Amino acid sequence: MGGFIIVGAGEAGTRAAFALRETGYDRPVTLIGAETHLPYERPPLSKPDIGAIAMKPICSDEALLNARITYLPGAEVAKLDVAGKSLELSDGRSLEYGKLLLATGARPRKLSCPGAGRALDFRTFDDAKVILDRLNASRSVAIIGGGLIGMELAAMLRGKGLIVSVIEAAPKPLSRAVPLRFAAKLHKRHIDEGVNFHLGVGVSEILDNTVLLTNGTEVPADVVVTAIGVQPEIALAEKAGLATGNGILTNLFLQTSDRHIFAAGDCAAVEQPGGGYVRFESWRNARSQAQIAARNMAGANEAFSATPWFWTDQYDLGLQVAGLPQPHHQSVVRALSTGELEFYLDQGTLVAAAGLGIKNSVAKDIKLSEMLIASGISPNPAALADPSVNLKILLKSAKAA
Ligand code: FAD
Repeated sequence: MGGFIIVGAGEAGTRAAFALRETGYDRPVTLIGAETHLPYERPPLSKPDIGAIAMKPICSDEALLNARITYLPGAEVAKLDVAGKSLELSDGRSLEYGKLLLATGARPRKLSCPGAGRALDFRTFDDAKVILDRLNASRSVAIIGGGLIGMELAAMLRGKGLIVSVIEAAPKPLSRAVPLRFAAKLHKRHIDEGVNFHLGVGVSEILDNTVLLTNGTEVPADVVVTAIGVQPEIALAEKAGLATGNGILTNLFLQTSDRHIFAAGDCAAVEQPGGGYVRFESWRNARSQAQIAARNMAGANEAFSATPWFWTDQYDLGLQVAGLPQPHHQSVVRALSTGELEFYLDQGTLVAAAGLGIKNSVAKDIKLSEMLIASGISPNPAALADPSVNLKILLKSAKAA
């Protein structure tokens, strides 16, 4: 019987490989990644303050070696044989596993309009390099998609002095994951920085140097980038007969429909205690699921539960969101010297919090808010709104209660 194999050397896969060693698991660990680089972080690819696309490795060759993790870069798993507990790589090699982790992530959605092939994707380091190389000899860029990635890219490219247009089918940018209040503030900042927005409109064709919109507008663009969301990478699991939906379906313990196979990160749709499955696309989610999946592969029986959390940096502004704010929640706003916090109460209970401020100035308050959410308190809204009431005090009294 083989050791443990991990398919996908992104955030989830790589963290899981190291977490397996932290459990004391001593048999072979193999990490297989289709990309040719050392495992790297994706968030720095779109962060404006770095100036150039940064490659931030998750680990070094030496760390992999010291942890006795066999890393196979540039190797794509083409087939999974669940009954035979084996994998086939696209170069014909086959490997047997005792347990398997699928951490295959997600791939960019594609446009289907005429000329869609002219648009560039933005998911990997290689994608980022192609975009920047093309932009070195260009003046204008059109970004199709006004979500988190599209808006981060817009900020980064305005910083480089390019003419930036954002095309978004929804009436407002950032409407999917960002609370309304902060989506509006970020939108305004982009307008102030000179980004051209085309909202509530689709793309009918991409031509050389122009994007033609469904309302007849012609947007000049030397380079076109699509950032219209991602789809979970489930092809391997699906072909192998594992249960899939909007992701590879897992139970609370991140175990798929085959008990020897686990899934974590952007590809995993995890069963919820109240029914249904939820899939998150965020850096911290990938890391925390990786830890739990690794421990469960090594014999633990831990249910995954974590308050969802993500951040985005645009210009000198940093947004952090903990929990899942919903339109029906009661909103309580607290002004800060460098920004603003918004708390979300569901029938009096604090369930989510978000903050927007200069750089990562809201980080400490959001961390405390996460602890408050986890403690299940129903705080006095006036105390939440009052900047002179330290959140630490609220936490202390929640703990005491
Ligand atoms: P991935 O990172 O996608 O890794 C999956 C890996 O599996 C890929 O390398 C892929 O090539 C490989 N793979 C797939 N199929 C196979 C196969 N058959 N064989 C071998 N290998 C395979 N999140 C935040 O919370 N905040 C941010 O600010 C933020 N910024 C981001 C900026 C960018 C530009 C991008 C693209 C993402 C950002 N994210 C951010 C999201 C975050 O990076 C992802 O949620 C996280 O990387 C998911 O990790 P993962 O390991 O599940 O998937």
